[in-house]
Amino acid sequence: ASGYDVTEEVISKRNSKQQLLNQQAYDLFMQAPVGFSLLLGDDHRIELVNHTALEFTGKNEDCIGKPVTEILPEVQMQGFSKFLDQVRQTGQSIHLKESKVMLDRNGIIEKIYLNIYFQPYYKGGKIMGILTIMSDVTDQVLSRKNAEELKERFETMANNIPNLAWISDADGSISWYNDRWYEFTGTTKEQVDGWGWQSFHDPKRLPSVIERWEKCIATKEPFEMVFPLRAADGSFRQFLTRAAPIRDKEGKVIQWLGTNTDITKQKEMERMKDDFMSMASHELKTPLTTIKAYTQIVEMNLREKNDVDSLALMKRMNSQVNKLTTLIEDLLDVTKMQKGKLVYNENFFDFNDLVREVIDYMQKTSGSHKIKIQLTGDITIFGDNNKISQVIDNLISNAIKYSPGANEIIVSTEIRDDGAVLSVQDFGIGILAKDRKKIFTQFYRVSDERQITFPGMGIGLYICTEIINRQGGKIWVESKIGKGSTFYVWLPFDHRNVVEPNV
Ligand code: ADP
Repeated sequence: ASGYDVTEEVISKRNSKQQLLNQQAYDLFMQAPVGFSLLLGDDHRIELVNHTALEFTGKNEDCIGKPVTEILPEVQMQGFSKFLDQVRQTGQSIHLKESKVMLDRNGIIEKIYLNIYFQPYYKGGKIMGILTIMSDVTDQVLSRKNAEELKERFETMANNIPNLAWISDADGSISWYNDRWYEFTGTTKEQVDGWGWQSFHDPKRLPSVIERWEKCIATKEPFEMVFPLRAADGSFRQFLTRAAPIRDKEGKVIQWLGTNTDITKQKEMERMKDDFMSMASHELKTPLTTIKAYTQIVEMNLREKNDVDSLALMKRMNSQVNKLTTLIEDLLDVTKMQKGKLVYNENFFDFNDLVREVIDYMQKTSGSHKIKIQLTGDITIFGDNNKISQVIDNLISNAIKYSPGANEIIVSTEIRDDGAVLSVQDFGIGILAKDRKKIFTQFYRVSDERQITFPGMGIGLYICTEIINRQGGKIWVESKIGKGSTFYVWLPFDHRNVVEPNV
C-alpha cells in the first residue's frame, strides 16, 4: 500500500511540474516584447494572442476565437491573407522584412513598419495553423529613411553647385566626391578613392599641399590654399581650396567637407592688373625723372637771375614732384614685391646712425613738427639699410601726416631680444582697435570722417610690413584714439641666425 502511495505522489509531483512549465511558457508568450499570435483553421481563427500583438493592432481580447480577416479587414486587404493561405498550403514559413502596414487603430489609420514571421504550426505531423511573430521596427525604418533622404538631398545639392566638392574621413583620406569632381578630372570613383586625389596635382606643388593638409588634420584647423589641379584634357587650372572640419556632438572631428573653386579667371585678371600697374608706374617714372632734372636746371637759371618769386613757386613745384616720385616708387615697389622681384642688398650697418640720418633729412623738410630722438645702445644690424631707411621714413611721414594738431614726434631705439626696437610716437588722431591689424595690408585705409581729408593710397605700411618681414623682423602699433599712435619695429641683429622668421 505504501508503494502505491509513493507512485501516486511521484505522478502528482510530475503533473504539477508540467503544469508549472506550461504556466511559465504561457506567461512568457503573453509578456514577450514581440507580438505573438496563434491562428488555427483554414479561416485563421485567433486562438491565442499576446499583449504586444494586441497593442500593435489596437484590439482587445474580444478578438479571440474570430477569424483574423474579420478582426483586421484593412490588413487582409493589404495582401496579408494570401501569405497566410500560402503558409498553410506549402508548410513553408514566410519572413517579411520591414513590411509597411496600414493599421486602423481605434478609427485612426496609422502607418507602421513590422518584421513579420508566419510560421506553420504542426501537431501530430499536420499543419494546424500559423504562428505569427511580429516586431515593430517603425522607429528604425523612419530614422533610416530620414538619413537616406538627407543624404540624397545633400548629394543633389552638392552635385548641382559649380564647385568641385568632397568629403574626407577624419584621417584625411577622401571617401566621396561630387559629380563635378569626376567631370573635371575625367575619372571614376575607383580610380581616386582614398589618397588617389594626389595624381591630379602638379607634382612640384604636391609636397606643400600634403604638408598643409596633414597639419590641418593634426590641428583640426580649417584648410585654405590655392593650387593647380589637372583637368581631364591634361591642362592645369588654379583652384581655391577650402576644407572645414565636421564635428560630432562631443566636438570630435569625424569628417572634412572640402570645396575647390576654379579661380583661373580671377588669377588671370589679377595678373593683368599687376602687369598694368607695373607697366604704368614704370612708364611714369621716366618722364618724371626728366621733369626733375629740368626743374633743377630752371632753378639754377632763376637763382642766377635772382627771380625770388619764381624761385618760391619752383620750390613748391619741386616738393610736389618729390611727392609724385615717392608715390610712383611705392607703386613700383608693390608690383616688384608681388612678383618677388624686390632685390635686397644686405650689409652690416649702424642702426642708430641710420635713424639719425633719416631724421636729419626729414626734419629739414618738416616745419610743423619737432622730431625728438632717444637713441640707446650700440646697435649693429645686418640687412638692407636703404629699405630699412624707407621704413623709418614712412613711419615718420605718417606720424607727421596723421597728427596735424601736434608739433612733436618722438623716435627712439633700444635693444631687445637679440635685436633692436625702433618706436615712432605721435600725438595725433590715433587708430581704432579694429583697424590696427588691417592698416598693414595692401590698399587699406581707415575710412571714417576723421581720415577722409588725408591723402594717400594705403600702400606705405604694406611695403614696410613686407620689408620688415623679409628682414626677419616684426611691425606693430599701439594707439589711443585722439591721443596718438606708436609704431614699433623689431629687427633681429642678424636675421640669418633667426631659425624661424617671424611672419
Ligand atoms: P596712406 O597713409 O598712404 O593711406 P599707409 O599704408 O601708410 O597709407 O597707412 C594706412 C592707413 O593707416 C592710413 O590710411 C591711416 O588711416 C592709418 N595710419 C597710418 N599711420 C598712422 C598714424 N601715425 N596715425 C593714425 N593713423 C595712421
